[in-house]
Amino acid sequence: MVQAARLPPILPVENPTEPFWRTELHQLDELRTTPKLPQRSDIVIIGAGYSGISLAYHLYKQLSHSDQAEPAITVLEARQICSGATGRNGGHLRPDLYGNIPKYIERHGIEAGAEVASFEIAHIKALKELVAEENIDCDLNLTRCMNVYLNEADGEKAKQTYELLVAQGLEYTPDIHYTPQKYAEKISGVKGAKACISYTAGTLWPYKLILGLLSKIASSSMVNVQTSTPVTSVTTQDGFHFVHTPRGSITASKVVYATNAYTSGLLPQYSANIVPCRGICCHITVPDGKDAPFLPYTYLIRSAEGNGQSYMITRPDGSVIVGGAQHTFEHDREHWYKVTDDSTLIEPAKNYYDDYMQRTFRGWDESGAYVKEIWTGIMGYAYDSAPHVGEVPDQPGKYVCAGYDGHGMPVIFLATKGLADMILHGHTFEDTGLPRVYKSTSERLKRAADGPEGGDIFG
Ligand SMILES: Cc1cc2nc3c(=O)[nH]c(=O)nc-3n(C[C@H](O)[C@H](O)[C@H](O)COP(=O)(O)OP(=O)(O)OC[C@H]3O[C@@H](n4cnc5c(N)ncnc54)[C@H](O)[C@@H]3O)c2cc1C
Repeated sequence: MVQAARLPPILPVENPTEPFWRTELHQLDELRTTPKLPQRSDIVIIGAGYSGISLAYHLYKQLSHSDQAEPAITVLEARQICSGATGRNGGHLRPDLYGNIPKYIERHGIEAGAEVASFEIAHIKALKELVAEENIDCDLNLTRCMNVYLNEADGEKAKQTYELLVAQGLEYTPDIHYTPQKYAEKISGVKGAKACISYTAGTLWPYKLILGLLSKIASSSMVNVQTSTPVTSVTTQDGFHFVHTPRGSITASKVVYATNAYTSGLLPQYSANIVPCRGICCHITVPDGKDAPFLPYTYLIRSAEGNGQSYMITRPDGSVIVGGAQHTFEHDREHWYKVTDDSTLIEPAKNYYDDYMQRTFRGWDESGAYVKEIWTGIMGYAYDSAPHVGEVPDQPGKYVCAGYDGHGMPVIFLATKGLADMILHGHTFEDTGLPRVYKSTSERLKRAADGPEGGDIFG
């Protein structure tokens, strides 16, 4: 028996805050390829953010031209294209060499950690090539990210991590540069910097990248995209999946959950693994007629109190996107933990960035810099800090690509390429060469379900 559709507990809210990235909407923003849902589709992808659209793009590229009546790929999106985390993030394409890599090395060994580092770094070249090949105007820029420490103890810890990574002789360490306190403030431009470390990173306009990719595939009869179509449940019978929405159901051979923070709404077994957590981000600019002081880098700035950090990019027009400020609200979980409401700001953080540039950077005191847009977004924090990619354990024909721990930009494009290989060619996860720590396994699901609440999320 096919079960009736039910409303899941976790769906994106209907009236989200407006991020800067969605102030120039693309004509495909509310795309419905056909007035009605197709009845059948080989592959249904749920979610039209970076994961869903990037996967659709890779599948499309790998499928030979098809004349079949039903679409090969259908993408269902609860709101508009790129209205989730991808359209509300920091625009920072930053291989996370200092956050999770040392953690992965400690837990899974040097090879596993190095695999992730190389994979994340590979995104810089891959996205540069993609943007050039597809001629997508998304403000892509390559630069260096400065990790800046305003607290001596944090600076010392960063130095030790740097030395540890260098001692491992990893391929990427020559790109990392450490600056001690003597020059840290002058090199970084950050007042009171006690140490800084820089490495290659990129910036881009995520919404324009995703809409640019969609525009390459949207006119093909192989692809059907339906916005404002929340999936309320998926049922399975005789090897087929039935994807239910308020507009009707679609029968599919394969279903992909590209639902990031919302994944456990449809796959409850992920509820301890991928936890929706709310973050805040804003766009700061200077008044008309003024020039923003030049900032050559992107940043990750740890506060002087050592209890919080902000990530920041400089846009090509000199304005900045900055977010974080968790230390202002993390003590009260109601503001962020298991929160899926991105229609309101986070009260304790909403004024934190008002004079951030003046407080933080040399040369900005008289800039008049002010917060022009501020918004919230929902991240999928992972219990063990690694995304879940691949087949949903024990559920043939279902795949997941989600749980990026607030860090999907240097992960998703190549992760979905590997996933496309699995879906179309039956490759195993191991065949794809994806980092081993990304594989979604029943052991990971069990560890999170049996472990203390929150896992890595709380520390
Ligand atoms: C404030 C903030 C700042 C960030 N900054 C950075 C950064 O600077 N660098 C970085 O690397 N990462 C950053 N991230 C994380 C990054 O944005 C995410 O890892 C990435 O965008 C995830 O892409 P996604 O497509 O998996 O998820 P999303 O973009 O959230 O897409 C999932 C889509 O699924 C849809 N959906 C969910 N449930 C359903 C359903 N039942 N039916 C239909 N549709 C559904 C949603 O509406 C959504 O559009 C940030 C995130 C936030 C929130």
